Amino acid sequence: MMLSKKDIIDILKSPDNAVFKEADLIRKQFVGDGVHLRGLIEFSNICKRGCLYCGLQSSNKSVKRYRLSKSEILDIAKKGVDNGFKTIVLQSGEDDFFDTKLMCEIISAIKELGVALTLSLGEKTLEEYKAYKDAGADRYLLRIETTDENLYKQMHPYADFQNRKKCLFNLKNLGFETGTGCLAGLPNQTVESLADDILFFKEVDADMIGIGPFIPHPQTPLKDAACGDLNLAIKVMALTRIVLKDINIPATTAMETLAPDGRLLALQSGANVVMPNLTDDYHRSLYEIYPNKAVTTRLDLEKKLKSIGRYIELKTFGFRI
Ligand code: SAH
Repeated sequence: MMLSKKDIIDILKSPDNAVFKEADLIRKQFVGDGVHLRGLIEFSNICKRGCLYCGLQSSNKSVKRYRLSKSEILDIAKKGVDNGFKTIVLQSGEDDFFDTKLMCEIISAIKELGVALTLSLGEKTLEEYKAYKDAGADRYLLRIETTDENLYKQMHPYADFQNRKKCLFNLKNLGFETGTGCLAGLPNQTVESLADDILFFKEVDADMIGIGPFIPHPQTPLKDAACGDLNLAIKVMALTRIVLKDINIPATTAMETLAPDGRLLALQSGANVVMPNLTDDYHRSLYEIYPNKAVTTRLDLEKKLKSIGRYIELKTFGFRI
């Protein structure tokens, strides 16, 4: 059954969580019980942008800024590969120090390790995306954050919604497996706009969708805003699974941050991916997009997955992501 916008809105407004179970069944049917791991490297917290919710926004002068060198990034990636990771994700603020040439060198070096490579570097030009693809990058994550243009403008006063949207279509046209997603619980966000977000994910034919509850960061203008509701974020995620069916959906760190078993709840409500952080403790603590980011160990994750009848799946190719 195809859900209409009205159906989605009604479900989001209702206190009933029956869609969690429904999404779990669809996840099992379309992508199975294996949980895919993506090793995340947060290689620079330097950012030229001013996203109001993000602790790394350029106007936050109290963050100690860092950027890892090419060899530091490669060392972390190698360690990840030695530990069995088949996908590496490189994420950063929008840091122009990493120009196209340097980025492409890093991409080629990581691809030599024989893994799939995902980038999450923000908005770039078509030429830059093309260069990354030619250098071997396989996937790109760029959340639309919200499809409500007014809210987008409030949250990103100097940014252009149309450009972000364009970036996603450019990525898709270049042949990237493309991930997007949204924040749930932003100030002034409506359930109607969350329903539009879900329908937008379908429209861009996304391969992966990441949904995170908004968590206020104390050094941002949104420090006193209400924290996003975990249940709402999981419901948006579950509905995304029901509407898009065979995509990959991570149980996001922001979900685990709001509740000790947030990730498990997500994995039982439509999610099939976990993105463990490979960044060393010191730099991880400086990559503070929101406070108290949850951490996991492989062993703990394995134990928890076993308790819900799931397992870590380390196959890379032959699957959509
Ligand atoms: N610069 C990259 C990576 C951004 S960080 C880009 O623009 O795509 C990854 C994600 O963290 C963002 O897309 C955003 O959805 C999320 N995020 C940022 N601040 C947050 C907050 N305060 N609470 C929850 N998630 C947040």
